[in-house]
Amino acid sequence: MSPITTSILLGLTAAVANGLGGAVIVRKNWDRRYLRYFIALGSGFMLGTALLEMLPESLRLAGPKAPLLILVGYFVVHFFEHTVGGHFHFGEETHAEEFVQPHRGFSVLLGLIIHTFFDGIAIASGFLISGWLGWVIFLAVILHKVPEGFTAASIMLASGRSKSVAWFASAILGLATVAGVLTMAVFSRSLNASLPLASGVTLYVAASDLIPEVNKEPGIRMALVVFLGVGLFVLLQYFFH
Ligand SMILES: [Zn+2]
Ligand SMILES: [Zn+2]
Repeated sequence: MSPITTSILLGLTAAVANGLGGAVIVRKNWDRRYLRYFIALGSGFMLGTALLEMLPESLRLAGPKAPLLILVGYFVVHFFEHTVGGHFHFGEETHAEEFVQPHRGFSVLLGLIIHTFFDGIAIASGFLISGWLGWVIFLAVILHKVPEGFTAASIMLASGRSKSVAWFASAILGLATVAGVLTMAVFSRSLNASLPLASGVTLYVAASDLIPEVNKEPGIRMALVVFLGVGLFVLLQYFFH
């Protein structure tokens, strides 16, 4: 299978996980506690992937231009998720007072759309380099996809939208991920820019979106699950790379 075909199939899988996350919140009787474990496990695994695989590969591809592109990727997410949107965090949105102006929900959704677009860019860029890099990035992405869809749907509910709009918001994140993969199918020669940018985005999502949610949890259990995520990554690297 060509790297792009594999990326499209895995991009679609990630998109399904987004929709599943949206369904968790729309269906009130579905248990959502386990989502915290995905956030913790995902953050550790993602940090391992970003720092030990994506960054070195970006430096190799883009040379001295890589660090600036990584920084740009990092701040693109900060700008769209947290500056334009104003109020954003992973997990269930319970601060309805932040969404008195209903359009606020859409500005936050825009931030998430940009982040998920780069999830797709990251998967396809990985596969264009090697099967190993593609798979490990896919795993880093899929681990936070369900909480991501859940977050988007809960923001829509907090800003007074209907359940169907809420679920649709999570589906849009899935579409944005697939759009990111397809973008790389067209611009596969821009790998030396796309991988460093996606590395910065991945670093942001892991360290600045997910870890803060882990730190909000009382006790040490969630903090330990982060190490489990890193450990899982290191094991995979040891056996498969
Ligand atoms: Zn909130
Ligand atoms: Zn994501």
